[in-house]
Amino acid sequence: MEVVIIGAGMGGLFCGALLAKRGIRVTVLEKNSSIGGGLQTFVRGGETYETGMHVAGGFNEGGILNSICRYLGIMDRLRIRRSDLMLSVRYADSGRTYNLPAGRDAFVDYLSGLFPHEKENIRQYVDAVFRISHEEKLFYLESLGSNDNHSPEFFMPADAFIAKYVKDTELRALLASVNPLYSGIPGHSPAYIHIMISALFMENPCWFDGGSGQLAEALKSVIEDAGGRVLTRCEVTSVRVSDMNVECVADKAGNEYRGDWYISDIHPSSLIPMIDGKAFTTGYCNRIESIPDTASAFKVFIKLKPGAVRFPGHPVSVIDSMENTWKMARYETGAWPHGANCFFAEGRDGWASHMTVYCLMDFEEVKEWESTRSGRRGESYEAWKKERTERVMALVEKCFPGIREAADDIFASSPLTFRDWFGTRRAGAYGLFKDCGNMAASIIPIKTKVRNLLLTGQNVNMHGIGGVPMTAIETIQTIFADDSVLNGIKEVIARK
Ligand SMILES: Cc1cc2nc3c(=O)[nH]c(=O)nc-3n(C[C@H](O)[C@H](O)[C@H](O)COP(=O)(O)OP(=O)(O)OC[C@H]3O[C@@H](n4cnc5c(N)ncnc54)[C@H](O)[C@@H]3O)c2cc1C
Repeated sequence: MEVVIIGAGMGGLFCGALLAKRGIRVTVLEKNSSIGGGLQTFVRGGETYETGMHVAGGFNEGGILNSICRYLGIMDRLRIRRSDLMLSVRYADSGRTYNLPAGRDAFVDYLSGLFPHEKENIRQYVDAVFRISHEEKLFYLESLGSNDNHSPEFFMPADAFIAKYVKDTELRALLASVNPLYSGIPGHSPAYIHIMISALFMENPCWFDGGSGQLAEALKSVIEDAGGRVLTRCEVTSVRVSDMNVECVADKAGNEYRGDWYISDIHPSSLIPMIDGKAFTTGYCNRIESIPDTASAFKVFIKLKPGAVRFPGHPVSVIDSMENTWKMARYETGAWPHGANCFFAEGRDGWASHMTVYCLMDFEEVKEWESTRSGRRGESYEAWKKERTERVMALVEKCFPGIREAADDIFASSPLTFRDWFGTRRAGAYGLFKDCGNMAASIIPIKTKVRNLLLTGQNVNMHGIGGVPMTAIETIQTIFADDSVLNGIKEVIARK
């Protein structure tokens, strides 16, 4: 059997590695010169910066990612470092800092100390998070079976889920402070995404020492060791379909790639125009086009002078005011940004070598320059970007006084940069938006009407390290039509 995969993002590479582990020859086609998509890193001024993923979870002994990576034989190659806190939340207006600890009990104890009147509610909230997280069967390496049997809480709005358990508005805001990690919109973002992310990062928050690109490289090596290929600068432009089967895919240079199965890890709206004939119905295409994307991203990268900023060992969430906790993804342009997530790279002797400041941003903000190309977007765009960078720095400075003086180099990437990096229509940081008010319309199945074409990646189910690898397992099991990948992972765990 041969499988062709479009896109060497986390989804495409996990699919490729899982197939390679089963002895299947895989060809992964990537449009960029470097692999990884949201795992991609780049080097500037000697620093390795991450484009997408900064925080991870599940790499601890017994954790889901640890199990998958041990099965693939790459766990020892990854330099994973555990964060000492799940998250530090700093409010610019009040000057207050809350250090949310890693570990379920420590999390409950810390918050119970601050909010003693909510002690029992906090315990019940955390119990609910972990109980409901078990409904995502693959996350615990359980067979999908009857995965459709979800509790009502699973699909309720994330903000309503928090409010169901705790009454204190300050505490509600604190528990919701992870919402930028899923582009949270109150009343719309489903509780299960909040739950999965909270469970993952509460249990074992961690980061990649040296950048997330190492995960992409490790997965690539599994594919190549089994005789497969990961080809870069290979932009797929057409998918030829005959009799509801893909015959081949072709890249921009006209090269053709054939396989028994084809997996698309790219945004479905990028795939649709490549498919010839009437393989996808108008209804399907319209549905995909009508699903909104999650918010995009604006990032400020700050190279730090040696010895200027201590490496904190955890991410820091900076929020202008507690009442704006849910206004990161949807905001008034003039008030942007209400918050930023700050990630640090460890330098020498306990100092940070750089800091990445990540704010959600609406793609509409860059719409007037959408037809321009990188490096040639014009003066008005450069002025806009400078002004937005200033706004981010002004917010960050309130919580990190002296950060400008500590900086050696400051530069930024906008939603247009992300669109061009990942090849998506509106640069949604986490793919298509899942709306609990209309789940049926938000979820795209792995199987398509084209018999040998499957979808994978963050647009299909959940984004990030807590979602994309699990969807990859589901995608591969669709090919084998059994639980053999899951069972293989369990066997490896049982042996060690
Ligand atoms: C700013 C930001 C911060 C994030 N932070 C975190 C975090 O801290 N923790 C976390 O778990 N997750 C985080 N995420 C989410 C995570 O990075 C993504 O969910 C994940 O990387 C998506 O993987 P994917 O394979 O689905 O898609 P992608 O990473 O988008 O991969 C798709 C790949 O396909 C390629 N491609 C596109 N079109 C074509 C074509 N025509 N031909 C060939 N190749 C093509 C792209 O170049 C890309 O490499 C973040 C995302 C962003 C944007």
